[in-house]
Amino acid sequence: MDQTVLTCRGLSKTYTQGKYSVSVLRDIDFSISKGERVAIVGASGSGKSTLLHLLGGLDTPSSGSVTLLGKDFAGMSESARGAVRNSSLGFVYQFHHLLPEFSALDNVGMPLMIRRTARAQAHEAAEKMLARVGLAARVAHVPGELSGGERQRVALARALVTQPACVLADEPTGNLDRVTAHKTFDLMLELSRTLGTAFVIVTHDIELARHCDRVLHLSEDGLHPHVD
Ligand code: ADP
Ligand code: MG
Repeated sequence: MDQTVLTCRGLSKTYTQGKYSVSVLRDIDFSISKGERVAIVGASGSGKSTLLHLLGGLDTPSSGSVTLLGKDFAGMSESARGAVRNSSLGFVYQFHHLLPEFSALDNVGMPLMIRRTARAQAHEAAEKMLARVGLAARVAHVPGELSGGERQRVALARALVTQPACVLADEPTGNLDRVTAHKTFDLMLELSRTLGTAFVIVTHDIELARHCDRVLHLSEDGLHPHVD
């Protein structure tokens, strides 16, 4: 059985604005297997966020292909891409992007509600996932009543509640203090193991990156194994 979750081949992205064009990614090849944890490091502006957007089907490459669970994004309509994204991918960002008016429970249940899962069932799954990230006692809290680390754990629970094949995390601990960053990063890796979810994690912190199965470095020369 093919264990590849997400693949890109010859991926390139050039942003064009008027007469200016900026080539950000050139000929990137990448693959991640079921349950694998890959860290991506690289200088600011090297294209890490752009790469994650392309891998998540949130943006279209200038050339090359992205394949999720054997299906090429290029062959899909925008709505089909949205459906695959919702069912197979989870996203975590540096800023939590939780809905401020909604409880942790409603925020985590949201991706299931979007899928038209019945409310009671969505809440049950959300409650379970919040317990797994250590927030069983915080289900009724709104984001403003949570600490930075707790908000990121809610965001992590929201990314995982649909049991995606892969989570794409863009500097998920970039806004946290060192101790909380470590705890949150290791929680992600532990959940990856127990749930069998692949993770692509962009981080500035090489020490945290080393906790992953592989560390890749993105630069103008492409995406290569990180060497110290
Ligand atoms: P990183 O996440 O590694 O810091 P980004 O992927 O955010 O890098 O950006 C890489 C480069 O692409 C930067 O030079 C940035 O200015 C440019 N860029 C990113 N998004 C856009 C966009 N929507 N339009 C034009 N240029 C962009
Ligand atoms: Mg970025």
